[in-house]
Amino acid sequence: MANDDFSDIDVHGQGFGVLHGGGTDSLEMKDKVTQAGPECVSTCIHCGTGNRVIISWEEVVAVSIQMVPVSDNRPWIYTPQNGGMLPPTTCRGCHEQLQDPVVTPDRGERWLKKGIQSGILRAPWVQQKILEFRRGAAQHR
Ligand SMILES: [Zn+2]
Repeated sequence: MANDDFSDIDVHGQGFGVLHGGGTDSLEMKDKVTQAGPECVSTCIHCGTGNRVIISWEEVVAVSIQMVPVSDNRPWIYTPQNGGMLPPTTCRGCHEQLQDPVVTPDRGERWLKKGIQSGILRAPWVQQKILEFRRGAAQHR
């Protein structure tokens, strides 16, 4: 039984290329992807403490389509100098806002690719999330 409700959606036309082709760029990605999401190591610029930051897949999808994700009721933080966004995560040592990882839409897309290629994510799930986010955004005035 095929249950492919999303087969008629032209994700490519929306500027979202995750489902097409397997670029070699994903092989260069050192970030680890887990069931929970990409895992990054962030060294605090204030106190030098190393923090492990896991970004949820939903947040990655949001960033990849240039929407601002929300974690624990706090919106992500724009970092215009880097052209990306920061998860609102504080250092476990000094509780200052971490300045890393900066997530750009490109980086988000590469994570999604890597997640799909490694079998953690299913492409239809990603497509559905994109639709949900776009629908949600359209409801905002
Ligand atoms: Zn710190």
